[in-house]
Amino acid sequence: MPLHSLLKRQLKRLGLEVEAGPPDAERWRQLVQHVSRAYEEHDQERYLLERSQDLASKEMAALYATVRADRDLLDSRVRERTEALHLSEGRLSSLLSLSADWIWEQDADLRFTYFSDGIEAATGIVAASLIGRQRMSNAAFDAPAEAIAAYEACIDGRQAFRDFTYGFTRPDGVRRFIRISGEPVFNDGGSFEGYRGVGRDVTQAMVAEQKVHELARFDSLTGLPNRNMFLGELDRTIARARRQGTAFAVFFIDLDRFKTINDTLGHDAGDQLLQTMADRLRGAVRESDLVARLGGDEFVVLLEGEACAADLDTIAQKLLVAIGEPTTLQGCSFLVTGSIGIGLYPVDGEDAATLLKHADAAMYLAKDKGKNNVQFYTADLAELAARQFELESALRFALTRGELLLHFQPKIHIASGRMLGVEALVRWAHPTRGLVPPGDFIPLAEERGLIVAIGRWVMQAACRQIRDWRGAGFAAPRVAVNLSARQFVSDTLVDDLIDSLALYGVAPSELEVELTESVLMADPERANQVLQQLHTMGIGISIDDFGTGYSSLSYLKRFPAQTVKIDRSFISGLPSDGDDTAITQAVIAMAHSLGLKVVAEGVETAAQLALLRKLGCDEAQGYLLGRPMPAADLAARLDSTATVRPPESLSTRGAVDRPALTATPDTA
Ligand code: C2E
Ligand code: MG
Ligand code: MG
Repeated sequence: MPLHSLLKRQLKRLGLEVEAGPPDAERWRQLVQHVSRAYEEHDQERYLLERSQDLASKEMAALYATVRADRDLLDSRVRERTEALHLSEGRLSSLLSLSADWIWEQDADLRFTYFSDGIEAATGIVAASLIGRQRMSNAAFDAPAEAIAAYEACIDGRQAFRDFTYGFTRPDGVRRFIRISGEPVFNDGGSFEGYRGVGRDVTQAMVAEQKVHELARFDSLTGLPNRNMFLGELDRTIARARRQGTAFAVFFIDLDRFKTINDTLGHDAGDQLLQTMADRLRGAVRESDLVARLGGDEFVVLLEGEACAADLDTIAQKLLVAIGEPTTLQGCSFLVTGSIGIGLYPVDGEDAATLLKHADAAMYLAKDKGKNNVQFYTADLAELAARQFELESALRFALTRGELLLHFQPKIHIASGRMLGVEALVRWAHPTRGLVPPGDFIPLAEERGLIVAIGRWVMQAACRQIRDWRGAGFAAPRVAVNLSARQFVSDTLVDDLIDSLALYGVAPSELEVELTESVLMADPERANQVLQQLHTMGIGISIDDFGTGYSSLSYLKRFPAQTVKIDRSFISGLPSDGDDTAITQAVIAMAHSLGLKVVAEGVETAAQLALLRKLGCDEAQGYLLGRPMPAADLAARLDSTATVRPPESLSTRGAVDRPALTATPDTA
């Protein structure tokens, strides 16, 4: 039997070749030993192999586990990162949406390469239409020159820029405002690659801002530039005039008696009046002249290129005419006048504050001169304005310091010569200026709202005087007190009168009030209501200064007045002036036909008195018959029967120089 070649080789190595005859026992032993070792070695190898296989597979498993763990880790990291990325992208875009409507990118030539969708939604501009174009080429920027220069400097210097805002008009004609920010992009080598940035449509905000700006510059009632804008404009005008060596003028305009109208007719009427006046002032000057409202009833006009005083005067007169046109308020026609003060740059002031102060002072002088007046500033005015101010502050203390006092002027019954009544006229004993007449402080008190308190003091002082005269055994004459417009509309008037009477136990019939026609006509309805109350109480009512206002006696008859006082401007013309005589005669006749008593004011001469007597005038008041005097002086003319002996003054001779009557403080 053929042997396996492997076995044959093994046997040969042992010297047991089959051809060499059968092996002896020793050889067999060696053979078995060899075979067994071979098996053992094989086993050993197999074991090693298996073991290494085992080890390898375990290592593989471990490796696999690590790889898997790594992969899981990686997966979760990726997941985390992705989430984080989403989150931050979300944050970014939500932040972006807060600060920007769209994102843009430009290349190194500053041509747009990219726009995010937002641009179309926000502005209506199709992004594609902009790609490949430069921003500058789109439209002229509507932005302040400084802002454009700053933006261009950033671009030229390849620097970041922030919040450059500009306006433009869309192809469909709609105005929009855009605000952009951007930063340059550089590559790793540091060379410039373009810009990227954000953009936002800020049209709404800009429109709101402009509105606020406008509100801060314009008066909402009249639409005129307000104080702020005027002061800014004045500063610019001064700077320009200084550079060019030119002059200009500031007109300071104040409406006369605006406060009275505002108080009597109410704020709506006051507002309407201001609007009307604003329109008229605007219409009376050139388009290029600035008309502004400083506040209240104060207006200013800034006039450039009008250096000549005569021209300015003409313009001022034109403004006064415009103001003076009749104004219809609440269905009634009113005449309002204005006072104008003029300050010239540079002579009256080289800075805004001085110029305005001087124009204001000139305006006050214009008012002082009788309103409806124009006044240029002069150096003396500064002193006058200062005095006016000093007077006003002193007047506030006049009441509390007890500086007010009353003088009394007789009203004489012409036919009998009896003193039937007196008019109480207020005086201010100023600590340094002496006795100040009411004309110097009553208008000021009216304007500054002090008149109601002063009027209340006058009523009380008059009532106290009646009580004192009676207490001293005299038959007290009826006392008339004057009421001015602001007093008349005060809610407390009737109560103040009742209180004063009650305080001193005076009967209403012992008191009389004097009011001018204009006070009644400011608000006839209310006037009638108040007068009816006073009339019912028994207080006498006189129409003062008749002839200077509406002068319609039949109209006045609607009010419960008993007396008309003819203004002294008519009496002064008697007897020589034919017109004055005719008017006086007519007034007396008409008044009598209406059942009214007539008092002539300001009777200074015997000839006047003689004529008045002839015309049938009831009573006379004037220097001829007695100046306003302190109560103590008047006592000499009172007696227990309340009559005065008819003095020579009531005859036609020698009355003017009566020493007893002229030696009163008022003669000073
Ligand atoms: P009125 O009520 O018409 O008073 C008459 C004014 O004429 C007084 O001036 C008086 O002194 C003056 N007068 C009297 N006789 C003559 C005369 O023969 N010739 C001239 N040239 N004048 C004469 P007065 O006291 O300066 O008062 C001026 C105005 O002041 C008064 O005019 C009155 O409207 C107002 N007033 C005076 N006292 C008061 C007051 O207590 N309250 C108010 N609200 N106003 C007053
Ligand atoms: Mg009077
Ligand atoms: Mg009078």
